[in-house]
Amino acid sequence: METEYEPSGPYVFKTGKYAKKALEMLMFSPRGYRFLYWLLRKLNQKAGNGERNELHKHIAWLIQKGKSRIATKICPYCHVNPVQYFSVFLNREYGGIGSFGPLCCGKEECLEKAESEDPMAIPALYHLDFSSLTRFSSTDAKDVVRLFREVFGLQGRLTKKEAFRFFKKEVAMKPAS
Ligand SMILES: [Zn+2]
Repeated sequence: METEYEPSGPYVFKTGKYAKKALEMLMFSPRGYRFLYWLLRKLNQKAGNGERNELHKHIAWLIQKGKSRIATKICPYCHVNPVQYFSVFLNREYGGIGSFGPLCCGKEECLEKAESEDPMAIPALYHLDFSSLTRFSSTDAKDVVRLFREVFGLQGRLTKKEAFRFFKKEVAMKPAS
């Protein structure tokens, strides 16, 4: 079994299109995230069962961490658990996000309440996971990033180091109950 990869700082590209950019910062840009996602798939194919280089390990680590961040916002229904889902009302005409719906934790009662918030429309629920960004158009994904920054308490200027610390933070991810 491979030893756990534990980076001590952000990974910064030295050359190429994203030279001097930190992977951690690309997580907060819809295009950047898509690029990382694509690059991870490519690196996985290339490496097969062989050795992974530093970049490969760092991207895999980051995308994994992006699935389990803990929100600073608390569920508006139970007032106990951190929010784990966000929802959107789709715009019927163009299919994109019409408006954001309620946020909630994963608890069944809370999910039910969130879904029945508006009797005329059922919101589409998404997990508060960075990979959700790949499910929206670039324009909509920008709004989702803004929402993430608010929900995770990362508003305002964000530095590479702060972004790294955010992804590095150990969290005991437990399903809402
Ligand atoms: Zn709740």
